[in-house]
Amino acid sequence: MRPFVVLVTLILSFTGFGFADDPTPNTDLLGFGSESSAAQRAREERFDASLDAANLDRWMKHLSAHPHPVGSPWGKANAEWMLERFREWGYTADLATYHVLFPTPVERHLELLEPGSFIAALNEPAVPGDATSEQQDEHLPAYNAYSVDGDVTGELVYVNYGVPDDYEELERRGMAVEGKIVIARYGGSWRGIKPKVAAEHGAIGCILYSDPRDDGYFQGPVYPEGAFKNEHGAQRGSVADMPLFPGDPLTPFVGATRRAERLDRSEAPTLTKIPVLPISYGDALPLLESIRGPVAPESWRGALPLTYHLGPGPAKVHLKVVFDWQIVPAYNVIARIDGSERPDQWVMRGNHHDAWVNGARDPISGMVALLEEARAVGELVRGGWKPKRTIFYGAWDAEEPGLLGSTEWVEHNAEQLSEKLVAYINTDGNSRGFLRAGGSHTLEKFFSQVARDVLDPQTGVSVERRARARLLVDGSPEARKDARDRADLRLSALGSGSDYTPFLQHLGIASLNVSYGGEGDGGEYHTIYDSYDHFTRHVDPGFEYGVALARTAGRATMRLAEADVLPFDFVNFADTVAMYVDQIAELEDDLREEIQTHNRLLDESSFELAADPRATFVPPARREPVPHLNLAPLRNALERLSAAADAHALVARDPLAWAASDQIALDVLLYETERALTRSEGLPRRPWFRHQIYSPGFYTGYGVKTLPGAREAIELERWDEAAREIENVSEVIAGVADRIERITARIRRTERDDG
Ligand SMILES: [Zn+2]
Repeated sequence: MRPFVVLVTLILSFTGFGFADDPTPNTDLLGFGSESSAAQRAREERFDASLDAANLDRWMKHLSAHPHPVGSPWGKANAEWMLERFREWGYTADLATYHVLFPTPVERHLELLEPGSFIAALNEPAVPGDATSEQQDEHLPAYNAYSVDGDVTGELVYVNYGVPDDYEELERRGMAVEGKIVIARYGGSWRGIKPKVAAEHGAIGCILYSDPRDDGYFQGPVYPEGAFKNEHGAQRGSVADMPLFPGDPLTPFVGATRRAERLDRSEAPTLTKIPVLPISYGDALPLLESIRGPVAPESWRGALPLTYHLGPGPAKVHLKVVFDWQIVPAYNVIARIDGSERPDQWVMRGNHHDAWVNGARDPISGMVALLEEARAVGELVRGGWKPKRTIFYGAWDAEEPGLLGSTEWVEHNAEQLSEKLVAYINTDGNSRGFLRAGGSHTLEKFFSQVARDVLDPQTGVSVERRARARLLVDGSPEARKDARDRADLRLSALGSGSDYTPFLQHLGIASLNVSYGGEGDGGEYHTIYDSYDHFTRHVDPGFEYGVALARTAGRATMRLAEADVLPFDFVNFADTVAMYVDQIAELEDDLREEIQTHNRLLDESSFELAADPRATFVPPARREPVPHLNLAPLRNALERLSAAADAHALVARDPLAWAASDQIALDVLLYETERALTRSEGLPRRPWFRHQIYSPGFYTGYGVKTLPGAREAIELERWDEAAREIENVSEVIAGVADRIERITARIRRTERDDG
């Protein structure tokens, strides 16, 4: 037991009151009448009592016993093992298999040619106390999936995080990366952005490394003494251009069945344009030590014992990567319990099962929580519960290379899912600490109620209250204000980075993504050290937060499956969209001011005069002034949305007393509101991404862009496009307002008919 826990326990037992606050047993659950609410709460008590941390522990040990990336023997064995468990627990379960492009390395070579010589080890050795780190023959070595093959030699340039701003900084110093090999540290954006931007600037190769400042000894003692990244650890990961589309690079928009039509690899647009290789800070040190040229700006410097220079050269390296471009089977496990009353309304829970190596934390910590949840739900069903709606559990394969298993399944079953899937609830790696939840704001009120009913294992207060306390103390000014003033916890908006993406952003299915974290330590992400031994020492010893995750996601799943009327609410959604619209207006104003100032500094030669005359300085280009955008259509649509949401909230509880047949039709109208947030044309330059409120950023990757069409056009200073996209999203918002108005009218009409 940790000292903090002891202290809290003492306070609780000696003073008779501590932090413990009642969950809200007397409040009806959203979407439930009083009687069904009481029955659901009783069911959740049985569910909680049945969850057993020992199962999570045992299953993690088994599932992470060997490396299990897509296409590996242990990956297949895991899928089959889970399939058997689901069947044992009473589910109808099958494998849904797809055939996807998955390159693995045949040759990796990185050598410093000048000055001096050094050959990168590119190796993560076994460490004492970590049993699976000894499986050296089975490990997939460190590489970036969907890097092209390449054999390049060139001078090195250090580009910090390798995001667009960093290249602007280099340009001001008169530095170009054309014909060079860039070395970028991990962090600051999703990794796939780095080679994309490097190639756009003419670089011929890209090396990614983990700087100890962001990920290593600067954070804390390194593994195996502590939890953090040691000098050998290198982060694997996909570098496909996922903001274009995720999934199998050869089959965009369609399921990668055996007979699917495939792009030729040479035309596949999501593969990188230049070779990429991830390395450890041990391997990066001699390279960075050999770079000279201007000293890097202060914010670019990491924690290695050297002066960070920009280059180019004199360090010159030879980088060679060759891959085996095989098509491998990806095994999704799909299990279901058919609904009794509304079998054509589906609720789905999912987590991926593949890992880069042993993957105890990513993804098995979330996977075992899902399994335990599914086992307990199966037990309730065997005990007589007949959920109204159909419940699906999915264990996805091939998430790591780019959400392949889920994306192919969603594309393959798009028609049925569009028609029937009410909501998708995702989990992935889990840790110890605070509730973190993102998702569709139409489910925010619903999810906040779930969070008030789950207790934090360490403090005994609700996980909602603990998350709120964290925001009040450590949050941004806006987050602090929210945490103080808002009745419900704000869901973060979803960008990308896990399997909710095809559901939410391609099909417009309301989604949630849930985890606990903030108190577990680690630098094991996508290395061989993400192991059972690491997890049980440093991340969630005792699996208390794994159980909390099962309680949270399990409640959300069961409530969505059993509600008398689906618990969609539009007031928080309207409030959130209003916030995004204000941000767009602010972005426009800030950019206008920034560009005015910028052009003025140019006109008066301030840039030149402020620069060191002995250093190279290239004044930046003049920028086009920001025109005034017409946000009126957006504001008008928003006003209509807010009014429609308020009107709906007034009558939302009325249908709880209706006959089931009327409720079914209403449910469909409710969950289809999320579909109405999509446009079939998708976003500019990336038609696969159809959601108009949330998308991953074109230049941030995992990082979300809200109202992405308008926001990214403004950020890219494309003014005609911005005007068009504002019109588009205004129409989408007005369309949703219209649907909500029809829902409210329908509720009123049915009441009149009944009365
Ligand atoms: Zn994961």
